[in-house]
Amino acid sequence: MRLSRYFLPILRDTPKEAEIVSHRLMLRAGMIRQQSAGIYSWLPLGLRVLDKISAVVREEQNRSGAIEILMPTIQSADLWRESGRYDAYGKEMLRIKDRHDRDMLYGPTNEEMVTEIVRSYVKSYKDLPLNLYHIQWKFRDEVRPRFGVMRGREFLMKDAYSFDLDKESARHAYNRMFTAYLRTFTRLGLKAIPMRADTGPIGGDLSHEFIVLASTGESEVFCHSDYLTFDTPAADTDFDSVSGLQGIFDKWTSLYAATEEMHDKAAFEAIPEDKRVSARGIEVGHIFYFGTKYSEPMGASVTGPDGQQVLLHGGSYGIGPSRLVAALIEAGHDEGGIVWPDEIAPFDIAVLNLKVGDAATDAASEQLYKGLAAKGYDMVYDDRDERPGGKFATADLIGIPWQIIVGPKGLAEGKVELKRRAGGERELVSLEAALARFP
Ligand code: ATP
Ligand code: MG
Ligand code: MG
Ligand code: MG
Repeated sequence: MRLSRYFLPILRDTPKEAEIVSHRLMLRAGMIRQQSAGIYSWLPLGLRVLDKISAVVREEQNRSGAIEILMPTIQSADLWRESGRYDAYGKEMLRIKDRHDRDMLYGPTNEEMVTEIVRSYVKSYKDLPLNLYHIQWKFRDEVRPRFGVMRGREFLMKDAYSFDLDKESARHAYNRMFTAYLRTFTRLGLKAIPMRADTGPIGGDLSHEFIVLASTGESEVFCHSDYLTFDTPAADTDFDSVSGLQGIFDKWTSLYAATEEMHDKAAFEAIPEDKRVSARGIEVGHIFYFGTKYSEPMGASVTGPDGQQVLLHGGSYGIGPSRLVAALIEAGHDEGGIVWPDEIAPFDIAVLNLKVGDAATDAASEQLYKGLAAKGYDMVYDDRDERPGGKFATADLIGIPWQIIVGPKGLAEGKVELKRRAGGERELVSLEAALARFP
């Protein structure tokens, strides 16, 4: 991508309305545009990051055995009347009437709809277990939308729904998602701690919130500090191993960790004082086991091995990719701007041409830009007619992990400068060495 032809509306001034650093940086870096309270357009740079996060989430869902579908954003109220949640959900639900005066709604979550799909097609225990997920926009009319996409009204959610014959296998489904979530957040460069959580309007009796510690987080949380040093399950984890996944779950729940609603002061104070973490956190994921809460009122059952009808045992599992964009910035920034983890950065490498129009500088920049793009790197080339200072500031602000700085002075000695965004280390290398650095 050539910056001269890109759409990157950088703001010079810090927007006054933004209270936290991630919101400020997302506006300044031209990632999002507010359209009304809690509703945002995703501009090119923001969309690239959102898509990269969704791709990691998707890979780890697929690895765990979940299957992707896509359900609509608009739902019929009748489905929610079946579960009894149409009235119970309250003002967070955006209610709409169509031209025939039918009650519709913009989905805040999809338990009812996915249960309707499964009850229509899944008739035998042989078709289980099943876990269906989608990555789709949700709408919740939040009382206080704030902090940009951290608490939007329209936001992206990955929501998965598991269906099993009994409690034991549903438990394994829960452990699959639990393990997939640990892997997902680690790949995103985040330390997310599973904490015992309240089940809220989703219902049920087993639930964990995945929390990233951050001073700007909206949740109050309490946990043992050793969680911050635990190893994440490996990529070759066997998701079919019941005891293996139970072992992962047991380890990651062996120490105290709870959100405010579930906090047990006595248990917390039993932790050695220097290991107690009492902090604020961002809820980036939330998983629930709720048994037959939806299958019973909605009549979702299968024929069991003995020929009897059995109600399905369900769970639901959410991650907020749009909130994660903001959470990643809260966790990764400095005075210069955003510092993206390598896998999530909107571009891998930026080539900064310090003297556009100078034949040698243009040629070397083009060679790097095209050569590395051909190797499969996501490249951005700052070929704008601008002062070097502006180019350095832009590259730092948008957080590209590697910068290759090309100027006439260095080139006279056959060198370009390689800069690592995180840490800021710089190194003078030949053009060939710069190309070879990225295999
Ligand atoms: P919160 O406590 O922040 O209101 P929630 O508990 O209502 O979130 P869930 O129903 O558990 O949210 O939804 C699953 C995930 O969706 C959350 O863990 C979060 O990552 C994301 N999410 C929920 N509400 C929002 C929102 N308003 N804006 C952005 N992401 C959200
Ligand atoms: Mg909420
Ligand atoms: Mg919550
Ligand atoms: Mg929640």
